[in-house]
Amino acid sequence: MLCPVCCVEYVEVEFDMEVEGVILHNVKALKCPDCEEELFTPQQHEAIKKKIEDSTGH
Ligand SMILES: [Zn+2]
Repeated sequence: MLCPVCCVEYVEVEFDMEVEGVILHNVKALKCPDCEEELFTPQQHEAIKKKIEDSTGH
């Protein structure tokens, strides 16, 4: 996928983040190496939702 601003290919990055008070580890996202814009693919978004549900027990 290309960054629409820089026309540079996004790279996959992995990091920890906090959502709704839940710490998520090894969250994958795409990041533009140029403007450092981050985005989630639908699959990555789905994985984050699952991690949240797992940690909250819902
Ligand atoms: Zn960019």
